[in-house]
Amino acid sequence: MTCKGSYKVTGEEVIITATLNGMTPPSWASHVEDKLAPMPLLLVQAFVDTLDRDLGTDIFADREEARVWLAGAGLRVPESQNPGQLDPGLADDLRLAREARASIRALIGRNTGREPLTPDDLAPLEQVLAQAQPRLAVAADGRVRLGPDPTTLPARTLADGLLGLLLIIRDAQADGSWDRLKLCGNPDCRWAFYDRSHSRRGAWCDMATCGNRLKNRNLRARRAQAG
Ligand SMILES: [Zn+2]
Repeated sequence: MTCKGSYKVTGEEVIITATLNGMTPPSWASHVEDKLAPMPLLLVQAFVDTLDRDLGTDIFADREEARVWLAGAGLRVPESQNPGQLDPGLADDLRLAREARASIRALIGRNTGREPLTPDDLAPLEQVLAQAQPRLAVAADGRVRLGPDPTTLPARTLADGLLGLLLIIRDAQADGSWDRLKLCGNPDCRWAFYDRSHSRRGAWCDMATCGNRLKNRNLRARRAQAG
């Protein structure tokens, strides 16, 4: 993402803070910056956008950064709270996190009519389902809830946390908000963004960058063909 949600006013930089119904977004979503999904779908968006293909950065590429992010998002309780101490399951978990992230990105891609999902797309999510089981709980208020729910209770294992993401996706598919979560139309970007437009036709994470960049590229290609 090259758009940083900020602009210059009278020589001073003014940071625009994206808000969720007037609330400051949680720290684990600070890298999303713009076009944020409502809670709890924001957790799915922030998870997918831990990979920034446009900038070539990946929160999960750095062990410590990944560990801190996953813990902060409630998706995985680290075996030790202290940086540098042994966390033997981390390497396997980071592999699963990256693979599941690609799967969920493919799921979101279906919202803008991409190819049907392949068994390879879904395999990491099958692995999550094999490792974690959804659990029903009756709360003190009498409501029957399906968990794990990483937004209310940190997940014991990464598989539990990822299953929690799938349950959030299921709820968003039921209430219709899922269809607004999309991937940027720039094939080099594929940033997940939440389309709040009335027409529901938003196609870019940011029109000023990806939208115009792709339009200019297509224009140059057409001119080259015409020439
Ligand atoms: Zn983009």
